[in-house]
Amino acid sequence: MRSIQLSYGRRRGESSDPDWINVRPRDPTRLSRMDLSVAFLGTGGPVPTALRGTASVLVTRGGEKLMFDCGEGTQRQLRRSLGLVQVDEIYLTHFHLDHCLGLPGLLKTYDLNDRDEPLLLFGPVGLHKLMKDLQPLIGRLGFHLEVEELEPGDVVPHVDYEMEAFPVEHRTRALGYAMLEDDRPGRFDPEEAERLGVAPGPSFKALQDGEIVDGTDGKVRPDQVMGEDRLGRAVAITGDTGPCRATIEAAREADLLVHDASFMVEDQERARETGHSTGVEAAEVAAEAGVKMLALVHISSRYHVGKALEEAREVFPETFAPRDFDVVEIPFPERGEPTLIPKGAKKAPPQTSG
Ligand SMILES: [Zn+2]
Ligand SMILES: [Zn+2]
Repeated sequence: MRSIQLSYGRRRGESSDPDWINVRPRDPTRLSRMDLSVAFLGTGGPVPTALRGTASVLVTRGGEKLMFDCGEGTQRQLRRSLGLVQVDEIYLTHFHLDHCLGLPGLLKTYDLNDRDEPLLLFGPVGLHKLMKDLQPLIGRLGFHLEVEELEPGDVVPHVDYEMEAFPVEHRTRALGYAMLEDDRPGRFDPEEAERLGVAPGPSFKALQDGEIVDGTDGKVRPDQVMGEDRLGRAVAITGDTGPCRATIEAAREADLLVHDASFMVEDQERARETGHSTGVEAAEVAAEAGVKMLALVHISSRYHVGKALEEAREVFPETFAPRDFDVVEIPFPERGEPTLIPKGAKKAPPQTSG
């Protein structure tokens, strides 16, 4: 497993922007405040329809915005819902048009809106060539665009989570992505700390930060007053793929799996020929991985989505087929289950410029 060393325009430690990736100081209490949501900007198959755009998912985690695929029309989908969100990182699963045609336009729009924050763009090998080919369309950008090719198994480190690229089975080089949060420190037991002679105040915080402090009867270690580590959250997004072992591994016990469901069982042969999945296969993957919730996307417009969903739910009941602008909110496990919010992305007041 290779851990990507990013060479941003602004390097680690010399950034003037404290929000920039990897420069934030680690703060164990920060993670417990971190909202996590997944907005579906485009849920359609390869051909956009009046109601469904081509592939794009926006993951918001605290103040960070991570986009997965950027099909045609993605920037209009943003304008119609959350506004022209300044995404920090874009991950492309592969270079079929329905997953990346929206990219040049979005980059250009950022430029015309005087973006000056850097943007990180990730994708499989071939991304450098793609961006070179797109250069005449995009022209010069006034912000720093960092382009990184990823191999299967590569991990992009972040302050308190990792983005893992996993190999999927499409008819071209393609990657899925799994966002895996670090485990969180266990719950702090203030009564036990007081019983051991630690006074409330700075010493409580020091214990929660992993430091040994003085109690009235000697040293007190964090493990004496902290519960077991708590699991972080996980979201996996496959892009286009047949059912595969790598997805099962990457999505193990994930809160949400977003999986290709291009075909219904009657067309399983077509799914194999084209490197896609049936909804039932996606459900089998979800069941084996033990995920909490499965989102079926990329369903061909030839099908009735309700019927495709019914098939899959027989295998994995916690399956849904999001519509464009639906949102899934993912709380920490002790605070509840992932929840689908229909049209949740439209509930935020859109930015109105333009
Ligand atoms: Zn596709
Ligand atoms: Zn494809």
